[in-house]
Amino acid sequence: MGEGDRRSTDGTRERQRVLLLCAGIIVLSAATDRVTLGYFAWRPLLVRLLWALFIVATALNLRGAGRARTRELMLALAVFSTAFYAALAALTGGVTSPLFHWMLALPVAIAVVIQDHPTAIVGSGLAMLAGGLGILTAADTSPALCWQWAGTAAIMVLLAAYISGSYGRLHAREAALRLAGAEADTRARASEAGIVARDEFLAIAAHELRTPLTSLLLQIDAVERAVSLSPGGVLGEVERQRISSIARQAGRLSGLIDGMLDMSRLTAGRLELNFDRVDLAALAREVAQRFAPDAAAASCVMKIDLPEPLVGLWDEARLDQIATNLIANAVKYGAGGRIEVEGRGTADVVQLIVRDHGIGISAEDQQRIFRRFERASGQRQHPGLGLGLWITSELCKAQGGKISVASAVGAGAAFTITLPRRSPAALESQKLRMPAAEPPHA
Ligand code: ADP
Repeated sequence: MGEGDRRSTDGTRERQRVLLLCAGIIVLSAATDRVTLGYFAWRPLLVRLLWALFIVATALNLRGAGRARTRELMLALAVFSTAFYAALAALTGGVTSPLFHWMLALPVAIAVVIQDHPTAIVGSGLAMLAGGLGILTAADTSPALCWQWAGTAAIMVLLAAYISGSYGRLHAREAALRLAGAEADTRARASEAGIVARDEFLAIAAHELRTPLTSLLLQIDAVERAVSLSPGGVLGEVERQRISSIARQAGRLSGLIDGMLDMSRLTAGRLELNFDRVDLAALAREVAQRFAPDAAAASCVMKIDLPEPLVGLWDEARLDQIATNLIANAVKYGAGGRIEVEGRGTADVVQLIVRDHGIGISAEDQQRIFRRFERASGQRQHPGLGLGLWITSELCKAQGGKISVASAVGAGAAFTITLPRRSPAALESQKLRMPAAEPPHA
């Protein structure tokens, strides 16, 4: 920690400011001595000047002082300040001086000014007892009154010590909180750095995996086509099934890698949308039909209710991705039940609802599943990265829309996406694509 940092955190600068203020007050209140005495006297002024000088010297010495040195300086300051005050009281009338009665409040005042130094308070208390009793004795005060004054003084010192101890505990608690805050900051920074490193790694890995996978998919496609063109060829049924299983797994892998690529694009704000006139009803019907074989394999009956065209300005490929994610999830988590794909629209917005009757999602999990890498608890039997809904939600947002879910455990789930037919982003992109208006001919 640098010198400047240390001073600002241990409060030395603030302490110095308070001490200089006290020195100023001590000198300026010299005028009151004239009122007390009824005439001007040099000696009280001299005491005040010496006291103020002593305080200024202490404040300067505090700079760069360690804990032990600060403690010594505070003790000296408290003892000498009390002594200077007692001298002032003695010089301005002794027992009859108004300053003498305020002497009892001195340790409390010192506890407030220098804070968190109980030893200094004890030192000041002893100095006060000595000074006060000296003044009282010089004025031939009766021993009973002396004892009474000493008792009051002792109570005041105890009070001051309590105040000082309270400040000590308060400062210790503040320091502990500061430390905990600093540790939390360090942890947050480390975890942020970890997240950035993870995102970078995923982006690079997805990018590097995409190229060989693309050529692998092309090869698998060619093999599948060759096999389907020669139904009675050399390959038996088992081999054919293996090839289609390879194709399915490669397709799944491709989907996962696309998800990772989308994630890195979305995180980096590099998602580009191509807005065009799209019929969401036709698109959703097509996606649902694409899933017919998977739905059949999962014993799901798909019911499509998309009666009218739902036209708007959207990115067709991204809309396809949204419908694909929702229907794929419905097949995955709603196996064995009915799946309903519904659409409806008003003049301004359209809605697509994908409902299944599968395992459902608890209220608590519903809060999390739209976040990155979040999955509902107890999902081990269904593989997944927990990215699909986050990407879907981001794609909806990018087109001015939103996604919501209604579900309960064991009662299936209904995901609804709501999209404006013309989002501000879509209108802006259309405007940019329009050719500049021709100037009217003369
Ligand atoms: P993934 O399916 O790859 O885990 P998603 O982001 O698509 O990732 O989904 C996040 C989580 O939301 C899933 O892990 C699952 O727990 C839950 N979920 C999504 N769709 C459904 C659904 N139709 N029924 C039940 N749970 C679902």
